[in-house]
Amino acid sequence: MIENLNNLERTHSCGALRKEDAGQCVTLMGWCARRRDFGPLTFIDLRDRDGITQIVVNQEKAANAHAKAKEVRGEYVLAAIGEVVLRDKNARNPKLATGDVEIQATEMIILNDARTLPFQLDASDEALASEDLRLKYRYLDLRRPELQANLRLRHRMVLEINRYMDEQGFMQIETPNLIKSTPEGARDYIVPSRVQPGKFFALPQSPQIFKQICMIAGLDKYYQIARCFRDEDLRADRQPEFSQLDVEMSFATPEQIYELVEGLCARIFRLIGVKLQTPFPRFNFAEVMRRFGSDKPDLRIPAMELQDFSSALAETTFGPYASVLSAGGEVKGIVVSGGASMSRKTLDELQEFAKRYGATALAWIKLGDELSSSLLKALGTDKVIDIAGLAGAQKGDGVLIVAGKSSIVAASLGALRNEVARRENLIPEGLFAPLWVTDFPMFEFHEDDGRYYSMHHPFTSPLDEDVPLFERAVNGETQLFGEIRAKAYDTVINGVEVAGGSIRIHRRDVQQLVFKALGMTDEMARARFGFFLDALAYGTPPHGGIASGIERTLMVLVPTENIRDVMAFPKTASAQDLMIDAPGEVDAKQLEELHLKIVQD
Ligand code: ASP
Repeated sequence: MIENLNNLERTHSCGALRKEDAGQCVTLMGWCARRRDFGPLTFIDLRDRDGITQIVVNQEKAANAHAKAKEVRGEYVLAAIGEVVLRDKNARNPKLATGDVEIQATEMIILNDARTLPFQLDASDEALASEDLRLKYRYLDLRRPELQANLRLRHRMVLEINRYMDEQGFMQIETPNLIKSTPEGARDYIVPSRVQPGKFFALPQSPQIFKQICMIAGLDKYYQIARCFRDEDLRADRQPEFSQLDVEMSFATPEQIYELVEGLCARIFRLIGVKLQTPFPRFNFAEVMRRFGSDKPDLRIPAMELQDFSSALAETTFGPYASVLSAGGEVKGIVVSGGASMSRKTLDELQEFAKRYGATALAWIKLGDELSSSLLKALGTDKVIDIAGLAGAQKGDGVLIVAGKSSIVAASLGALRNEVARRENLIPEGLFAPLWVTDFPMFEFHEDDGRYYSMHHPFTSPLDEDVPLFERAVNGETQLFGEIRAKAYDTVINGVEVAGGSIRIHRRDVQQLVFKALGMTDEMARARFGFFLDALAYGTPPHGGIASGIERTLMVLVPTENIRDVMAFPKTASAQDLMIDAPGEVDAKQLEELHLKIVQD
């Protein structure tokens, strides 16, 4: 029978009681995580967000409470009143913070019942129900202590960010969500206007333009934990809406931003008991791509840097390599320590893996008791030994080799470096390896439509020394666009890009040139960004900033590979909320009010 709470109040949470509390009379409330019956004794594990406390109900001492305890099923909501008693030595549970004690209940109140759950909450990781089912019943999945701990860490991290940013003199300013497109390289989510027929708002991909306008407005040091909306293909570390610590500062130098972010990271990592070494090492983009094949290298992985074999193969008559090299491509490889023992199966799997990143083939050398290599026939034994030596491979090692366009060679070897490290367990647990990546290219070429796009966003300033190059590129030498470097920087920790930002363009003429470089006519630039170009003309201070993904950072802290583990109400990979069943249809009246018609194809 369900009873009322009336004025009954909890005295403690389910995670609070210790042996020092023995003798106290307490009232606990929570969910029945487990019930065990032993004739006249019934045990209930009572759970709330703080922990679990064992309740014992004894038929002889509390017949009424015992009868009620017998009715209790999993996830019933209960209040238990009774005395805290020390458990017998052999009955203590060292796995529970409250495991030295239990409550001898004198009274039990059933506050609510619960249907049988669609899945088990205390299953082991491997036995957990499918994620789709858990997302549909997110309110149940969230009762799991693992997810509760992640959300608690999230809360503490955001609290720490707020404290730190305030201490550093930053002011929190909220920017609107119903705006015009802010380009960050994804599609916009758009919202139709009811009062302005045929017009649409775009949800911010980031508050970028607004935070720059805050600088023009003299608001100086700005920050916000901002919600961002990006309609893009989802990956394990992406969600259509997410939060970021968004920062902007007037008269900023890159050094000031680096120091600010390093200080912040150090504070945040203290929350998990880690002392992060500052300053972080710095690498420019060209260097990380050359050495690690990635603009977010995982520096926890020992060595396995990319080795270039192009010059050793300059004279090769082996067709595939000769044609790659004559087309300006590269032949590079990585040494896998102990890799001589890689099986055929492993090599086949790694080949398939590399192909996902555009590699046409994966060649290999194994320095086992005998030399073996997929290249022996093509290059001859001497050349293969040469290459292995050049790579610095020792007896017992393996070498994995990719040839092709330099972007493909980097992408596939960079990914292989991570994959091999994962398979071979080369990544030490509990290690955190932060770094800065600087001087990103300003533009990147997209082959599909044959034009340049901003690598960061169009408000990023070129490096001072590359401005002449930029002017030449805009004036017709378009092949130079790919060489211009930007004052852009990313913070990377353990192979995850946790923050990214830049020093901005504060001159209207330079901003106009960038829009032009991106293929926008003056009219197009005015239509999209006229308000911003105007604002730039009214005394814009030099400024710069950065944004750091809250979820990405938490994924490193927890750690987890699944972004949904660090959000309360995430969406699926197909951008759906399975719990509330969104996106959904709207009724005809709403469509009419919004001046919209659905066209079926
Ligand atoms: N607006 C950028 C982003 O969201 C960050 C920045 O440049 O500050 O990635």
